[in-house]
Amino acid sequence: MSAGWLRACALVVMGLFSVCALAKDKQPTVIVIGGGLAGLTAAYELQNKGWQVTLLEAKPSLGGRSGMATSEWIGNEKTQPVLNKYISTFKLSTTPAPEFVRTPSYLIDGTYFTAADLTTKQPATAEALKRYETTLDDLARSIEDPQNPSANNTLHALDQISVSNWLDRLQLPATARQLVNQQIRTRYDEPSRLSLLYFAQQTRVYRGVSDRDLRAARLLGGSPVLAQAFVKQLKTIKTSSPVSAISQDKDGVTVKVGSVGYQADYVVLAVPLRALNKIQLTPALDARHQGAIKGTNYGWRDQIMLKFKTPVWDSKARMSGEIYSNTGLGMMWIEPAMKGGANVVVNLSGDNARVMQAFGDKQMADQVLIRLHAFYPQARGAFTGYEIRRYSTDPSMGGAYLAFGPGQISKYWRLWEMPLQRVAFAGEHTDTLYPGTLEGALRSGQRAASQVQDLAAGKSFEPAKVVPVAAAAAAGAVAAKKGNFFTNLFGGDSDKEPVKAAAPIAPAPAPAPVPAPAPVQAPAPVAPAKVEPAKKATVKPVAKKPVAKTPAKKTPVKKAAPVKKPAAKPAATQTQAQ
Ligand SMILES: Cc1cc2nc3c(=O)[nH]c(=O)nc-3n(C[C@H](O)[C@H](O)[C@H](O)COP(=O)(O)OP(=O)(O)OC[C@H]3O[C@@H](n4cnc5c(N)ncnc54)[C@H](O)[C@@H]3O)c2cc1C
Repeated sequence: MSAGWLRACALVVMGLFSVCALAKDKQPTVIVIGGGLAGLTAAYELQNKGWQVTLLEAKPSLGGRSGMATSEWIGNEKTQPVLNKYISTFKLSTTPAPEFVRTPSYLIDGTYFTAADLTTKQPATAEALKRYETTLDDLARSIEDPQNPSANNTLHALDQISVSNWLDRLQLPATARQLVNQQIRTRYDEPSRLSLLYFAQQTRVYRGVSDRDLRAARLLGGSPVLAQAFVKQLKTIKTSSPVSAISQDKDGVTVKVGSVGYQADYVVLAVPLRALNKIQLTPALDARHQGAIKGTNYGWRDQIMLKFKTPVWDSKARMSGEIYSNTGLGMMWIEPAMKGGANVVVNLSGDNARVMQAFGDKQMADQVLIRLHAFYPQARGAFTGYEIRRYSTDPSMGGAYLAFGPGQISKYWRLWEMPLQRVAFAGEHTDTLYPGTLEGALRSGQRAASQVQDLAAGKSFEPAKVVPVAAAAAAGAVAAKKGNFFTNLFGGDSDKEPVKAAAPIAPAPAPAPVPAPAPVQAPAPVAPAKVEPAKKATVKPVAKKPVAKTPAKKTPVKKAAPVKKPAAKPAATQTQAQ
């Protein structure tokens, strides 16, 4: 063997080694789409683990659906562990919640009642509310595993029933029914648009959690402060960058914002489903995912804050905290008069919010003020202004938050928990236990970040398996211990009726089509967004490059990025949707 040939071989081998070393050392890249709390969490976690992260947000500001109230009520560590972890990591200020917010109260035809008042002054309503709660609790008890709510045929059948159908059977007196409707539409959506199984599953998740733990403290500045804490940590954020297309191939992903393309190894897609509908994916999503994007129900909830010089309700009633009204006022928060005035945040939810879409902002404020003035005649004189946030028709949100409609758990359960090739999904709507909450959004961001890590390490994700529906005979095992499933379901006390396999009542009619989105005012900016100059982009811009049409193939295993800390698995403890 000649010395020259040996030298050539050595050079080739050395070359191969250095290519391998380069591949090993190459910093993995990820694009996070959506700058709400889910996207911010995913970006933060991946950046901490050594990834080059670029966050693309459609709006000029970050924070997405963070709340309007200047300070948010939050649960304690037991009920919202992930939220509390970030609050402590970022050293955000909280104050303990005062007593008045810890339990809801009621405004019945203009008269204010605490829960205790109701028992003595409106015993029929109080008893009916108790019966409703007991029946709902029985229903929730029948779900053993909230991660798998349709574990048997009987539970599966509940998904075909709407909550209003179930409430009709309870035959509550009119006032109690109005209050129950109001509570459900504020937390989820109109009862007629909500799957009974979803309602039961969510009640199961929060079963045994006390109101005191759920409203334990106040986050000063509200959730926008948390969003800003994440923003401060992130190196590359591009606001006003609505993503229009994502294509994947064997080498990576290309993300298009107008005519500009960004390339990276992976994508975290943290936008609500209606917004996802506007992003073109290549290869295209399958029929089930597309059906979910178009069909999954979102609750409607808009917020209007009315500002007064003084608390006009003081003369008549104390009014404080979270109040459910039986009139068109919806659910109200009375904000403590911290800045010399008094604020009422009125939540218009469900069909009340849908109807209000016909009104402009000022008209909407007037409508609410007229109703308040009817009870509190000083209201008009003391009124100083309003702020409105419309989540329902904002095209980047398409609703307040996920609220599965009848039949939708059966079709779309845990669909977005699994990555598709190089794309992992995040957002409150992808969290199984805590959709519609800050906790759910944060958990989903952590989960997506750890999935991207796993993908880079060569792990492949199987589509989520639907746990087979067990024999009808095993139905409602827990509920069956006391009464039977369907007698408990409707608040009865007889246990003579046998457990049936099929739904005994007609499936709920499909919810009425949602009115076409009206033009809306953009939500108030969370805080000035940090816009990085283009040179700081961590992914390669590929301006005007046509999007690759090649279908994604299985990609070779990549070495995982250096990990500073193991990904914290979010604990599955309980919290409250509101
Ligand atoms: C009225 C209301 C009250 C609430 N109250 C509470 C409460 O008291 N407690 C609680 O825990 N939770 C509450 N929530 C829920 C909580 O606010 C949400 O669950 C959470 O903020 C959702 O975060 P997200 O990141 O999943 O989605 P989002 O915040 O919606 O973030 C998605 C982001 O993606 C962006 N985007 C969309 N399309 C594109 C695109 N094509 N390209 C780039 N970016 C795009 C959007 O602009 C948005 O910023 C409330 C929600 C509402 C609406």
